[in-house]
Amino acid sequence: MSDRPHGYARYRLDGCRCYTCGYARSQYDENRTKAITAGTWQPYVDAAPVRTHIRSLQECGMGLRTIATLTGVERQRLQSITSGRPERGTGPQSRIRPAAAEAILRVEPTLENLAPGTKVHAAGTHRRMQALVLAGWPQHQLAVRLGMTDPNFSAMLRGSHVTARRALTVRSLYDALWNADPRKHGVDTQACSRASNHAARNDWVPVGAWDDDTIDDPAAAPWTAAEEPALNRDALAAVRREEIGHLISFGFAEEEIAQRLGMALSTVHSIVLEIRTGQRRERPPQGEPKCGEARMYRRHLARGETPCDACRAANAAADRRYRLTGSQKAA
Ligand SMILES: [Zn+2]
Ligand SMILES: [Zn+2]
Repeated sequence: MSDRPHGYARYRLDGCRCYTCGYARSQYDENRTKAITAGTWQPYVDAAPVRTHIRSLQECGMGLRTIATLTGVERQRLQSITSGRPERGTGPQSRIRPAAAEAILRVEPTLENLAPGTKVHAAGTHRRMQALVLAGWPQHQLAVRLGMTDPNFSAMLRGSHVTARRALTVRSLYDALWNADPRKHGVDTQACSRASNHAARNDWVPVGAWDDDTIDDPAAAPWTAAEEPALNRDALAAVRREEIGHLISFGFAEEEIAQRLGMALSTVHSIVLEIRTGQRRERPPQGEPKCGEARMYRRHLARGETPCDACRAANAAADRRYRLTGSQKAA
């Protein structure tokens, strides 16, 4: 799988979620956020958190040369922060200008910043390709668009890791196609439904099951269709939560939600709090998409149907929101 030792790089690049890796990640975040907020008005700041941050980047395979290019801080200066200049008999620098500190702390080991050959876990890559196949894109078409042979493409879908370069090209292909109708791009209807059927048989999940902050997280579970709600208290509560979550996502105030659902305001309030502060990974299931939702638009496409007007309008609105805010969800 991976020979990276457990720690930050293994968390980030291999998606390991063991205790050691999770702890390393929280340390990374804490170190970085604290240092960024540590008063930029001071003439000098402590270089230690910056040194720690550079080490994390190095652990992810980023060299000082790359960090220098990304930050505009010269390599020699980075070196005096990490290890000092032994040839001059000086140890690691203890203080640093805040502007340089901030420039360095802003750099993260994203796919764009990693060396192109760096191996990263393939979860996001698999999910993106699987969702496109479910939406009716034959694997051969995707392989061609990625400049890959069919066998290499299948190997990619089976492998645990891909290079950062490959993950990036897959991501841009997905960004270009998730919203497109394969039949309008030269895929015939039969090939389209063969692709969808193959994906469905393998339990691959649709575009709508992921959002931008879950699709690359190996530990995240897809949003799944709600099961037929049994009429017991727990099921009813789950349905309520789901309705409330839905209404908040459309920007309804708690009072309005309470009125609409005929619930006490205090109950609505506590559920809203729970949803907002609760673990994001345990979002209530969204339920089957209905016409008039952007998710349903994608579902129509996935089924090889022509999206209805309501769904087309919802999808266009989600697209506009995405261009304006970078998120498809209503604020
Ligand atoms: Zn680990
Ligand atoms: Zn529809």
